[in-house]
Amino acid sequence: MEIGKEVSDFSCFDEQWQRVLARDKGSDGQFFYAVKTTGIYCLPSCPSRKPKVENIAFYDSIDAAKKGGFRACKRCKPDIYL
Ligand SMILES: [Zn+2]
Repeated sequence: MEIGKEVSDFSCFDEQWQRVLARDKGSDGQFFYAVKTTGIYCLPSCPSRKPKVENIAFYDSIDAAKKGGFRACKRCKPDIYL
């Protein structure tokens, strides 16, 4: 990922989504995904069932996810990266 690149960039989005699907622990803390239907944000390695790709948003920080109106997932506890 290039430094300063927008998280919403499609090619980047696709790569991040692949990491979420793979529950890639190495991505934990690098980015977070939020589920619009449940209002929570998660670590890429979260063990919970994966949402549909159209229902997620990616954030590069927890602050950004919180500002987006999301709260921390109780399973993967992303706030350890705050
Ligand atoms: Zn989670």
